[in-house]
Amino acid sequence: AGKLPHKHALQGQRQPFDVNAIRRDFPILSERVNGKPLVWFDNAATTQKPRAVIDRLGHFYEHENSNIHRAAHTLAARATDAYEAARKTVARFVNARSADEVVFVRGATEGINLVASTWGEQHVGAGDEIVVSHLEHHANIVPWQQLAARKGAQLRVIPVDDTGQVILSEAKKLIGPKTKLLAVTQVSNALGTVVPVQELVAIAQRQGVATLVDGAQSVSHLAVDVQAIGCDFFVFSGHKIFGPTGIGAVVGRKEVLDAIPPWQGGGNMIADVTFERTVFQPAPAKFEAGTGNIADAAGLGAALDYVSRIGLHAIARYEHDLLAYATEALRPVPGVRLVGTAADKASVLSFVLAGHETAAVGRALAEEGIAVRSGHHCAQPILRRFGLEATVRPSFAFYNSCDEIDHFIAVVRRLARA
Ligand code: PLP
Repeated sequence: AGKLPHKHALQGQRQPFDVNAIRRDFPILSERVNGKPLVWFDNAATTQKPRAVIDRLGHFYEHENSNIHRAAHTLAARATDAYEAARKTVARFVNARSADEVVFVRGATEGINLVASTWGEQHVGAGDEIVVSHLEHHANIVPWQQLAARKGAQLRVIPVDDTGQVILSEAKKLIGPKTKLLAVTQVSNALGTVVPVQELVAIAQRQGVATLVDGAQSVSHLAVDVQAIGCDFFVFSGHKIFGPTGIGAVVGRKEVLDAIPPWQGGGNMIADVTFERTVFQPAPAKFEAGTGNIADAAGLGAALDYVSRIGLHAIARYEHDLLAYATEALRPVPGVRLVGTAADKASVLSFVLAGHETAAVGRALAEEGIAVRSGHHCAQPILRRFGLEATVRPSFAFYNSCDEIDHFIAVVRRLARA
């Protein structure tokens, strides 16, 4: 028990919010699987939805459903208001300069592809370099590889140290006259490393290099301020921050969005069309061809409002203690190797257990109702950096508790003895 100093703090007065009250906001957390209470430790893959989000979707379809063309009729006005209110909520949530800087997309993957296919097509040429980090999710590797192949450009990779943190001095050496773009994640989905994106963006900007920050894993764990980060593009997915699937955002500097071409063509994104030419809408509409994901945008707004009511500083503090508690409990289990031990981490534990396949560990946990990811987490390069093809990855959210971690540790300990 001396090894676990955080449990009482977490469950006592230091706790910034009542985790049991929060859990009651998430209907699925009362689910039983395999006859056991569900323990959802797969938050890095996707998060569960509070009642506020589920109800918001129902409300849209019961009272507001229409396509968005404000002037047509009453429901059109309601749907347009819901969609645009969500855009304002996203802007406020990440401190964008205005809602015009928020482009709705399906998620982080589509957002990165949008930037690669618009900004990338316009700015990247033969011999140019795109710099990413060794930590990236495949979503922030493959679109740049595809762009580089189209253009004759090169992908360069900022290495990480043995804790899984990017090496800033190496970044300074890599980012140079040939670099056109720095594209980095703010939090690693595979290891949980919190990357110093503000410093990296500053290094890039001193060289006149454009920047994209992948916020898929950061928005739900730390307060994001895109103006403080200073990046040109910031992308994230709604489903990883307690919102619906199929909705996310690219938050881009307005002057950059205005200067790049549209991506897909079609309705909504045009101001005027003849058979000879099309005049496009200004950003963000120019990037939103066709009917968008209107209800889910409203659901995302409800999710961000919910998170804001709890407060990201309180969430970050609680999750920090939860992660420390889990880390200290897991580290001494015989045969456990923790992967990713950076000083600054968010809510992800990645480990292997000697003598046990990661898939078997995942199955043993699942039998006990505990959902974790075991596999390569769509980030094969960083696992290979540590000589691995897969890890077991419990990932936490603010609705997780020390009791759930105790249950998880007990199962791992039992496996370790087997
Ligand atoms: N970037 C990171 C760091 C991620 O963890 C993920 C999802 O796991 C993505 C991008 C892609 O997100 P999505 O699948 O929602 O587009």
